Amino acid sequence: MKITNIRELKNINHEVLKYMSDKRHEKVVHCYDKETNLEAIIAVHNTNLGPALGGTRMWQYKNTSDAIKDVLRLSRGMTYKASITGLNLGGGKAVIIGNSEKKTDEMMHAFGKFVETLKGLYITAEDVGMTTYDMSIIHKETNHVVGKPTDLGGSGDPSVVTAYGVLMGMKGSAFYKWGSDKLNGKKILIQGVGNVGKNLIQLLQKENADIYINDLNLEKALNISTKYNLKIIKDNIYSSDIDIYAPCALGGTLNEITIPQLKCDIVAGAANNQLAKENIHDELLSKYNILYAPDFLINAGGLINVYSELKGVSRDEVTTKTENIFHTTIEILKKSNQENISSQKAALKIAKERVFKKHNA
Ligand code: NAD
Repeated sequence: MKITNIRELKNINHEVLKYMSDKRHEKVVHCYDKETNLEAIIAVHNTNLGPALGGTRMWQYKNTSDAIKDVLRLSRGMTYKASITGLNLGGGKAVIIGNSEKKTDEMMHAFGKFVETLKGLYITAEDVGMTTYDMSIIHKETNHVVGKPTDLGGSGDPSVVTAYGVLMGMKGSAFYKWGSDKLNGKKILIQGVGNVGKNLIQLLQKENADIYINDLNLEKALNISTKYNLKIIKDNIYSSDIDIYAPCALGGTLNEITIPQLKCDIVAGAANNQLAKENIHDELLSKYNILYAPDFLINAGGLINVYSELKGVSRDEVTTKTENIFHTTIEILKKSNQENISSQKAALKIAKERVFKKHNA
């Protein structure tokens, strides 16, 4: 097992190292276990508010630099997600390079050992490509893991609460944009019908929304479409005639190519880092008069859920904190309007104030 500081790795592209310095990551390590061929990166962005908590993503990245880029952006997002949600946690994230369908228990044991070497500076949980079962295996090597199965005293699958928070953010956005939080009859496209997407479908069906779905995995989309009697949009999804676009797959889907095609009034979804370029594409959305509910604000339900496992917070408190996303969304949208800045900038401003105020106090 080998753990190396990212700066000591060879062949890491310059752009990645610059991003790391600019965004002031506290610690980024590359983990390699020869026996299981596990390659992972763990990034700790900021621990001013507490230990860095963030899920582990398992994905088939093209190369190590792409994986590092992703983990740097994701871990930074976690710092601001915890802050804006009022949690005393820092921001961190891990990525495992590989196909999650080829994951083995031995790999999870190796990953758990790497997490343990950081002695609680980083606490892991599940993200794309990982499950509560994986957390139970990681738990055999370290206590610095949450999102464990309920029969192990864990808080279970966080995506249920994440979806509820996204619904709250969507309703807050609808209230601000249309004067009512009712979603009945609204055409909503869910891109990515994985853990969060599936739960969001169930919640939106209760709201009588007109739901459309899209997934890279067509077989999955077909199964969900049959189960819930939903329409699939396969092609030209960005120019489809919808009211709300809910990105629930991977990040970067809001960019200079997709935004001009969008016909929706609102973007509100679970995916992390939806804006391909945070400082450019937020402005582009404003230019097209599209309301953007900042992802790190409205997808915080899962973090609230795992926080409860860490701190022994009650289920009622989890629900209350998650429902508060409705009010915070409206507050951010008002601030964005009053200060003539994008909703992303307004949300970041509030989040950064808390991270740095507490630290300087
Ligand atoms: P998941 O892996 O269960 O589901 C993702 C789905 O997106 C899969 O069905 C996949 O086939 C599909 N997909 C991937 N790329 C796609 C593309 N280009 N177009 C269409 N579909 C595509 O993941 P999840 O747990 O549901 O998480 C979804 C997103 O929400 C991720 O970005 C994740 O980081 C974020 N998120 C999840 C949680 C959580 O509690 N699970 C919490 C906060 C944020």
